[in-house]
Amino acid sequence: MHAVTDGQIAGEVWLVGAGPGDPGLLTVRGRELLATADVVVVDRLAAAVLLDAAPPDAEIIHVGKSPTARSWAQEKINAVLVDRARAGARVVRLKGGDPYVLGRGGEEAQACAEAGVACTVVPGITSALAVPALAGIPVTHRDLAQELAVVSGHLPPGHPDSTVDWAGLAASRATIVILMGVARLMDIADALLAGGRPEVTPVAVIERGATPAQRVLRTTLDALAIDAIAAGVRSPAVIVVGEVAARNDAPAVGAAPLAGVRVLVARTRPRPGLLARRLRQLGADAVETVVAHPAPPDDAGAALLAALPGAAGLVLADPDEVAAVVALLRRAGTDVRALAGLTLVAARPDVTDALDALGLAATTLDQLGQADRTDAGAGDAGRVARAAGAGPAAAGRRPAPGPAVLVVGAADLPAGGPWTPRRVPLLTDVTADPDPRIADELRHGDFDVAAFASSTAARSTAQLYGPLPPDLLVAAMGRRSAEACEAAGIRVDIVPTEPGVRPLAAAVADFVTASRAAAAS
Ligand code: SAH
Repeated sequence: MHAVTDGQIAGEVWLVGAGPGDPGLLTVRGRELLATADVVVVDRLAAAVLLDAAPPDAEIIHVGKSPTARSWAQEKINAVLVDRARAGARVVRLKGGDPYVLGRGGEEAQACAEAGVACTVVPGITSALAVPALAGIPVTHRDLAQELAVVSGHLPPGHPDSTVDWAGLAASRATIVILMGVARLMDIADALLAGGRPEVTPVAVIERGATPAQRVLRTTLDALAIDAIAAGVRSPAVIVVGEVAARNDAPAVGAAPLAGVRVLVARTRPRPGLLARRLRQLGADAVETVVAHPAPPDDAGAALLAALPGAAGLVLADPDEVAAVVALLRRAGTDVRALAGLTLVAARPDVTDALDALGLAATTLDQLGQADRTDAGAGDAGRVARAAGAGPAAAGRRPAPGPAVLVVGAADLPAGGPWTPRRVPLLTDVTADPDPRIADELRHGDFDVAAFASSTAARSTAQLYGPLPPDLLVAAMGRRSAEACEAAGIRVDIVPTEPGVRPLAAAVADFVTASRAAAAS
């Protein structure tokens, strides 16, 4: 609800913590607010939760560091929050982790207050706690550490502006969690050793926590700087110093093979699909995007009407073909009654349901085949089989000679049946419009895997978003989609041994598990 003052709609700002990056770790309130935002002002670290929660027409303003854009000055961020709210917008300022943990959220709240703009904070799960936890490190442990310090490593120890008491921390037995410390590892280790922390104190460095690219370096305080350089540790990373850093209690990755893996699922139908559902069951964060949708070719109506006379049945591949047939007939000035006398054959169970919803009875390809073998006699199936001349004459009538003609769109007919397919292209795939947010996430490297369940999905994705980033893993359903990828210049990393949604999802999980094992050893 917009607050109304003096007949004017007043905007408002919410400082929302996005959590450590996994959309599942955004709070319920944060998700509700995002869903009704007019404007979302987002950091690089928080961008991943956007696609799932923000309305498609919200204005998205990226202000964080990214490979392609420099980050905004804090004053400029404050100004945009205030300006948009004054213009009446519901502004969600989405910040990585918790807004008030080393995130300058306090300055943004203050800027709003000074401008007289209403501002509410919605806490988030901070990476300071969640990233160690997801790597199996409890930041406190009754026997090891009963005290916890979360500190910024942005300024080196001894810097005149630093308020961190490195000497005090060194003398304590607290777990020290350091954010923004990668560039200062040497100085930090030196300060803690100089202050009395033992050389053998365990240290863990968790890079890109809670993503499949997560790397955990386990070392000791005296070897920290050298080991981090050798491992090529990069920001963002959380550094944990203290006895707990040696623990590996319940790392999140063990639970679900694709936990923390962000998968782009390219779809060629506007409905949510099985592949994304299966990937989610395996723990993935699957984001579906429609890259193509089916539409009847221009001449499809005329072609359909021309194909019907003399046909015994019409085979429908999927509910889209059902909808297309209904629409084509209407557009041609007739309706489903033009199908009278034809057996409607459903290639899949959801086609039976779609026809049923229109009050039309269907038979299945199996039933057709069976009627052929056993001459079950009754109903449509028997009629088509008899029309096909395959069974013994029923009701004392000689079957019509020659195989029955079946009008077929895209369905695969089993070979060897007593029928002749008459192909009519009912639908072709039309490439969709690119989604700027998907393009943005791809550019920022926010996806780990792209999955293609068909050659059309692969082709259209290449057309809309190509060339894909080189470190994006590509999974293709089978040989045909892999070939389409290669033809479109997309390198394929994962192809299941047999085609299918489940084998494809399993192959992605196997691949990720194997590369995680390789990275850990
Ligand atoms: N407000 C944020 C912290 C912002 S400071 C929060 O509460 O989490 C940015 C620092 O957070 C990074 O330099 C890094 O130290 C840490 N960080 C955030 N996300 C991280 C991640 N996924 N993996 C490792 N470190 C992360």
